[in-house]
Amino acid sequence: MSRFEYAPAPESRSVVTVEPTYGLFIDGRFTEPTGLFPTVNPADETVLAEVSHAGPAEVARGVAAARKAFDGVWGRMSGAERGKYLFRIARILQERAREFAVLETLDNGKPIKESRDVDVPTAAAHFFYHAGWADKLEYAGLTASGAEVARPHGVVAQVIPWNFPLLMLAWKVAPALATGNTVVLKPAETTPLTALLFAQVCQQAGLPDGVVNIITGDGRTGHALVEHPDVDKVAFTGSTEVGRSIARSIAGTGKRATLELGGKAANIVFDDAPIDQAVEGIVGGIFFNQGQVCCAGSRLLVQENIHDALVERLRRRLTTLRVGDPLDKNTDVGAINSRAQLDRISGLVEAGIAEGAQAWSPECTLPASGFWFRPTLLTGVSQTHRVATEEIFGPVLSVLTFRTPQEAVAKANNTAYGLSAGVWTEKGSRILWMADQLRAGVVWANTFNRFDPSSPFGGYKESGYGREGGRHGLEAYVMTGAGR
Ligand code: NAP
Ligand code: MG
Repeated sequence: MSRFEYAPAPESRSVVTVEPTYGLFIDGRFTEPTGLFPTVNPADETVLAEVSHAGPAEVARGVAAARKAFDGVWGRMSGAERGKYLFRIARILQERAREFAVLETLDNGKPIKESRDVDVPTAAAHFFYHAGWADKLEYAGLTASGAEVARPHGVVAQVIPWNFPLLMLAWKVAPALATGNTVVLKPAETTPLTALLFAQVCQQAGLPDGVVNIITGDGRTGHALVEHPDVDKVAFTGSTEVGRSIARSIAGTGKRATLELGGKAANIVFDDAPIDQAVEGIVGGIFFNQGQVCCAGSRLLVQENIHDALVERLRRRLTTLRVGDPLDKNTDVGAINSRAQLDRISGLVEAGIAEGAQAWSPECTLPASGFWFRPTLLTGVSQTHRVATEEIFGPVLSVLTFRTPQEAVAKANNTAYGLSAGVWTEKGSRILWMADQLRAGVVWANTFNRFDPSSPFGGYKESGYGREGGRHGLEAYVMTGAGR
């Protein structure tokens, strides 16, 4: 079969090669493609490629390859040597950044300026950051009490969602490898391509066979992977519902788990906030990646006396957002990742309107094919509305009001989630007080959606447990505590 070459925007010189079919990446090689299913470009619904569905037998092969690599070369390698591989991977990601950015945008639907400026560089940054840790774990107390060296768990099963396919892979794979674990990773069904390109990077970096295995498939594949008896640790990012089912299924098995789940962040704006900056932060907080972000600022809590003025400013700003071709470098809002996700967003917005909220969207012409949703403001939202409590995971901002800082905290914390929050005010003492009161893993002040590999990320309550990034993120990948 011939390869199909996708030339992106005319002004772009880079070309990414998409194979017609992909096998699984097990033990350093790609298998013969089997049980093929398509992955589409959500911007126009064309089939980009067909990838293999891994059933229990293939999952077992992936786990066996990871076990062999752990018991063999990788588990015995010094941290300094492991670090060299991570540095190499980081540099290759930088060198092939254009390819990754275009492929991510094709498979996911996100604007090229986001994959180019955020996803790919941040993924490379995670490998650089963790490369530096590989030979310093013992100095940071990442050892069990009484032990002299940091001890990895062994084989780690990693299951990731579709909203940041390469970045979530980096968040998972980099700390696992830095600490000496081996990996079997399952990307989401709708966005497998950058993980498969990453498999090529592992080959290019000369990573020993079986240290990273990439198994494509759907929820059944993920289930078979986390249930496999030879898996020592599970790292999952996705919905609270699936996170719960994983926690139940591994209970009592001795497997460790970290779960990064959903969110319903409050972005809280006081009347003394720097308003232009706040408008940009609110817009970026909810429309970045079409709002398909677990830490998205999806609930705007605005101080009542500036509600009307702020909403007016937001409307004006929203009319300037460019919605459309994700490969156009001027696009601000791209496609929704799948029809299922589009239906979920539409359904929740309809429910919000039925419950009494007012919806407003700027005029814009949406492409004729593909999955699209206009940036939407919902005003008149009350705390009990579904659009104020459930994660919409789309370009939809629910606006609520408050009068006092105490009321803002009470409303912000009135959620089953606890992943992130934002505070906009000129008053430093208020920022500190709010950060202390807010039950959220990350609190941004006068900014939003800022990520750095050195900063731990994770939630409370139904947003899951465990942290990714920083020293805290490494803890999840080594044995700590007494007697280990
Ligand atoms: P999802 O359905 O939970 O899927 C996440 C991953 O789990 C996918 O790879 C999925 O496979 C797989 N999966 C599905 N059922 C499974 C099972 N029973 N056992 C093991 N794996 C299974 O989530 P989604 O709807 O695709 O993604 C959106 C959700 O992820 C949102 O709720 C969002 O908040 C959350 N999220 C959280 C973070 C964070 O860092 N906290 C980051 C991003 C997203 P398929 O590909 O077949 O679905
Ligand atoms: Mg899914």
